[in-house]
Amino acid sequence: MSVRVRFAPSPTGALHIGGVRTALYNYLFAKKNNGAFILRIEDTDRTRFVEGAEKYIEESLVWAGITADESPSAGGEFGPYRQSERKEIYAGYAQQLVNEGKAYYAFDSSEELDAMRERLTQAGVANPQYNAVTRMQMQNALTLSPEEVQAKIDAGDSYVVRIKMPRNEDIRFKDEVRGWVVVNSATLDDKILLKSDGMPTYHLANIVDDHLMEITHVIRGEEWLPSAPLHVTLYEYLGWEPPKMAHLPLLLKPDGNGKLSKRAADKLGFPIFPMNWKDPQTQELSEGFKERGYLKDAFINFLALLGWNPGGEQELFDSVQLIELFSLEKINKSGAKFDIEKAKWFNQQYLKQLSNEDIAQELGVQFPDIAENELLPQIANSLKERVTFIAEMKQAGQFYFERPSTYNEKMVKKKWNEFASDKLVGYASELSKLETVKADDAKEVLTNFLAADETPLGKVMPALRLALTGEAGGPDLMEIIEILGPKEVAERIALAAEKLN
Ligand code: GLU
Repeated sequence: MSVRVRFAPSPTGALHIGGVRTALYNYLFAKKNNGAFILRIEDTDRTRFVEGAEKYIEESLVWAGITADESPSAGGEFGPYRQSERKEIYAGYAQQLVNEGKAYYAFDSSEELDAMRERLTQAGVANPQYNAVTRMQMQNALTLSPEEVQAKIDAGDSYVVRIKMPRNEDIRFKDEVRGWVVVNSATLDDKILLKSDGMPTYHLANIVDDHLMEITHVIRGEEWLPSAPLHVTLYEYLGWEPPKMAHLPLLLKPDGNGKLSKRAADKLGFPIFPMNWKDPQTQELSEGFKERGYLKDAFINFLALLGWNPGGEQELFDSVQLIELFSLEKINKSGAKFDIEKAKWFNQQYLKQLSNEDIAQELGVQFPDIAENELLPQIANSLKERVTFIAEMKQAGQFYFERPSTYNEKMVKKKWNEFASDKLVGYASELSKLETVKADDAKEVLTNFLAADETPLGKVMPALRLALTGEAGGPDLMEIIEILGPKEVAERIALAAEKLN
């Protein structure tokens, strides 16, 4: 049977970075096994539906290169891929379970449910549940006669369908990450499968769809592990073979103390969403990894290693390698600490590998005022080892775009003096004899010029940097001279001499 996996987000808001990782692992697993990766939108809970969230999820996956083989927009043989469009399918299965005595109608009002919980709490029950014991005191098809049930339905009373969990049975399943999991059914409640509006709950819809879409592996976040015994029971009740399951470790705050939340990320000043997201309710704008300047490949490489590691020291993997190496066995059991410094490191590594032309192009897009500058590829080359994000190049290379208007005061005090200034003016006139100059030649001209009276390089270099950039530090000085060209260099030296002497 060919591998089929799904990413099944609910469109209740922006896609959290943990969700992107779940999608990525599903995608890598599918590609590794020549299988299919399916995007299914789980939108049955209309109360939590957020306008624009589905579009955001699709766009984020497109940006991240996590392409779905089947999805609401790509279509596919197993559609529709939006649960709200599959409504009719689920009720039939709920009915089947009712007919077979594996589920039952329950008519309890919310007041009655509250009263039950209150009663149990008073009696010292820590976790009051609608379960194998308490269901016998409630308004449902197990306590009412068939005639009473029919009368209630005929009268239009609202009801839900609940699963009838076994009273005291061990439910066992093997998780591909955690190994064998055993849970006694006495700890589980009779979850609602079909709501009073006829819509399925997540549990029913999820199982029915995974079965009908022929999902072979369910790879999802650890927060769904507690639901897995219920899902296993549902598969058994419906007479279906359950897919294999793999629950992914949580993403933790940088200090390892608790789950990585949006609040924590906001507080620490890093993004939590892949792309910009404007909350339609609060209008709050959250900056995404993309807009913060993370390169897609760096982002993916970083994310892939948050909870998975192929072993060994290597950290840089392109997507072909990730696919090649990915396996469920190498997923960690313990939570993965989110380290934004590591994300930046990856960005730097990928930025260094980009071609100068590509960086120049991106700079032009981000900063239209410098888009026409023909030197952009060279400027990119001189700065790409020095910044984390492309956008930082504008600031870091400000001196390439305009002459310095101020000069680092401390450096001026320490390194600018008449001697250095005179030497620089002399160097400028030597340089001016050339139309263009390569970095190596610029260096040679300088050393030769200074050799005449044995002036050490160190006596003029800081002043030269000041004259050209106004700064105390920056990219290789000879490279700067090559990029600016002899004429501009000479003019900047003259300008500095005029302003600083
Ligand atoms: N709709 C669920 C979610 O929002 C899917 C969980 C699952 O993958 O089973 O995460």
